[in-house]
Amino acid sequence: MTHSGESNVKLNTIHAVEEAERIYDQLVAWRRDFHQHPEMGLETYRTAGLVASTLRELGYTVQEGVAQSGVVGLLENGEGPVIMNRVDMDALPIQEENPADYASEVPECMHACGHDAHTAIGLGVAKIMAEGRENWSGTLKLIFQPGEEGENGAEIMVQEGVLENPRPLVILATHIWNHMPFGKVAAAPGPVMAAAEAFRVVFHGKGGHGALPEKSIDPVVTAAMAIMNLQTIISRNISALETAVISIGALHAGDAFNVIPETAELRGTIRTYDTGVRERVLKRMVTVIEGTAEMMGATAELELMPLTPALVNDRSVTSLVQEVVVDLLGEDALEIGERTMGSEDAAFFLQEVPGCYFFVASGPEDYQDRPHHSSRFDIEERALVNGVAVVVESLLRLMPYRGD
Ligand SMILES: [Zn+2]
Ligand SMILES: [Zn+2]
Repeated sequence: MTHSGESNVKLNTIHAVEEAERIYDQLVAWRRDFHQHPEMGLETYRTAGLVASTLRELGYTVQEGVAQSGVVGLLENGEGPVIMNRVDMDALPIQEENPADYASEVPECMHACGHDAHTAIGLGVAKIMAEGRENWSGTLKLIFQPGEEGENGAEIMVQEGVLENPRPLVILATHIWNHMPFGKVAAAPGPVMAAAEAFRVVFHGKGGHGALPEKSIDPVVTAAMAIMNLQTIISRNISALETAVISIGALHAGDAFNVIPETAELRGTIRTYDTGVRERVLKRMVTVIEGTAEMMGATAELELMPLTPALVNDRSVTSLVQEVVVDLLGEDALEIGERTMGSEDAAFFLQEVPGCYFFVASGPEDYQDRPHHSSRFDIEERALVNGVAVVVESLLRLMPYRGD
C-alpha cells in the first residue's frame, strides 16, 4: 500500500490510510464480533444495538428501529452538503464450515457475504470522521441497513423516509469483494449490478392417462417448450451488445409416471441492466408464454415480482472515488471494469440520489475457494483498512473544510 505523497493533501489534515491503520485492531475486533454473532433479515437487533451505542458515544444523533432494526447516525458539523454512507448488517442461512475461532456461534446462520465487514467499516468511518470533525464541514449521515439478502431492507428504509430530513446530496456504498485478490478497489460508472425480477408461470392443461395423450392437454410438454422458447428472447430479441439473463430455477409438475397432470409450474429470474432492455424482455416473455400455451391448447398464468432495480453509479461521484483510490492506494489498485449480474438493494438508494457503489477486494490467497454465499467464505481483513480509507477520503473531498 503506498501513498502518492503530499500533492493530494487538501485543507484537511486527516491522512485516511494512516487513520484506518491506526484503528485496525478495533476494525478487526468489530468484524469478528459481528461474525461470531450473525443475525438475519430485518432482525439484526444485537448488531444494531452495538452500532447505535457506538455512534452515540462518538457524538452522533441516532435513530433506531428504521425497517425494524436499521440505524441512522447523523453528525451535523457546520455548513456544507449532506453526504450519506450506507452499509448493510445482515447474514445468511448457511452453516459455517470455517474452523476460525471467530466462526459463527449461531447454527445455520453465517456472515457469508461480508456484511459483518461492512458494519465494521461503517463504524470505522463513523469514528474517524467524528474524531477528526475539525477537518471537514457539512452533515454526515450514516445508514446501517438490515435485510439486504432478499428482504429489500433498503426499499423499506426509503419508504420510512430515510432519504429525507435531511436529504443527502450524494450516497456512498461499499461491498467487500472476494472475487478479486486483496489490494484492488473497483469503481465503474453506469450500471454495475443488475435489475432483478422473479417470475412464476402456471400452465393449466387437462389431466389424463399417460397412455392416452390425445385425450388430455399436456402442461408438461407445454412447460418444456416454454423453457426453450424463453431462451430465444435472449438469443433473438436482445442485441449481442446488450445484457440480459433469464434462468429457470424451479420446474414442478405431476407425481406419477403414468399420469398427465393438470398443471405445470415454472419459477425463474430475469436480470437486466437497462430499463429499455428490461421492458423488451418482459413484453416478449408475456408473448412467448401465452403463445406457447395457446399453441398447445393450454392456458397460462404469469406472475411477475420485481425485486430490485439496476444499481447505476453516477459518473462524477464515481470519478471522485476513482481518484481517491489512485491517490491512496496507487494506480494499480483501481479496477474500472467490475460489473455483475447479481443484484443489490442499495439500488433503491442510488435511484433516488446520485452516488457510487464500489467494491473493495477482500480475497485471501485461496479466494477462489471462498466465494460469497459459501460456507467457507472468509476475507483478508486488511480490506477493512482499504474500505475505511477510501470512504473517509471520499467524504473529506465531498465535505471539504471551509475555513473560519
Ligand atoms: Zn450476498
Ligand atoms: Zn452482500
